[in-house]
Amino acid sequence: MNKIKSIFLILIVVTSCGTESATDKNANQNHWSYEGETGPEHWDELEKNNQCSGLFQSPINLVNFSEDKNLNPLDLHYADSTKIHSVENNGHTIKYNFEKGDYLIYNDKRFNLVQFHFHEPAEHLIEGVRYPLEIHLVHTSEEGEICVLGIMAKEGKNSEPFEFLERFLPLEQDESKLINKSFDIQSTLPENQNYFTYKGSLTTPPCTENVTWFVFKEPINVSEAQVELLRGFMPINNYRDHKPQNGRIIKLSHF
Ligand SMILES: [Zn+2]
Repeated sequence: MNKIKSIFLILIVVTSCGTESATDKNANQNHWSYEGETGPEHWDELEKNNQCSGLFQSPINLVNFSEDKNLNPLDLHYADSTKIHSVENNGHTIKYNFEKGDYLIYNDKRFNLVQFHFHEPAEHLIEGVRYPLEIHLVHTSEEGEICVLGIMAKEGKNSEPFEFLERFLPLEQDESKLINKSFDIQSTLPENQNYFTYKGSLTTPPCTENVTWFVFKEPINVSEAQVELLRGFMPINNYRDHKPQNGRIIKLSHF
């Protein structure tokens, strides 16, 4: 009788596991990772029509750039009243989702700030230097074009905005939390806002090559403890190695 019971139990377990993986809504979102068989070297094999083996990929080493005095400061429209809607741990990063309100204008077009998230250590290199942390502010246009603002962080004094953000952590994988509080993203930007700019891609699958990148040259300060805290909640080394420049023009603003 006991034997029959346990066989029955095993059957239930096997069946339910099978059902779960077949219907897992997040299967598509979480099928890639930062190591092993689903790691960056295999991203281009993971799904059809992704661009991960394209010629104009990100991140890159920001080197061989030319200074351009005609580049204007970024046309940022960040209000201190714009609300962060929620924070989520999607298994790849910690991501803060914004409500509509903040945007930037690029080439006479509006790009709304949708979310920001973290890579530890940084993805872009600045003249060969990798910072401990890179923050990506993701902006999208109505047509689906993307502008990402990259902010480098170095270890230094405590950051008040980070203190606020980290109050909502930790989060389990696939867990999200409602925040619904105003946040002035301006307070996370460096004082000197000269930036590198080039055309590239998303740094995660499907690696779509429709991204205009702006990476601030000057890093911001975040304390070692604050970097450590974030590190503990994300996959180890959640960065993609830099890709070849392949003749792309990299400009550095100078104002
Ligand atoms: Zn990113």
